[in-house]
Amino acid sequence: MFTNLVITAYCACKLCCGPNACGLAANGKPPVEGVTCAGPRRVPLGTKIHIEGIGTRIVTDRLAKRFDNRIDIYFNDHAAAKKFGVRRAVVWIPTKPETKAKQ
Ligand SMILES: [Zn+2]
Repeated sequence: MFTNLVITAYCACKLCCGPNACGLAANGKPPVEGVTCAGPRRVPLGTKIHIEGIGTRIVTDRLAKRFDNRIDIYFNDHAAAKKFGVRRAVVWIPTKPETKAKQ
């Protein structure tokens, strides 16, 4: 489905990820610039999404609960993440196959 979401950016530093930043994404692996994004908990880890104007990313990380309905794009560099700012974009999120099977 297409959905219009707030898009933000982050890196693995303590400013972006809090004092307990461990450098790993929610899937237990290091995030990769150009691939990794954090997404809402309703989107399963490993889901490939397409963000208009930005490109394809794989949801392998999570946001803080209060920002759950956002996409957070991973950058290696804190300055690059900060420069990205806050945007809105149309995001394509594939429907889960399990959901289709139930209907
Ligand atoms: Zn940072």
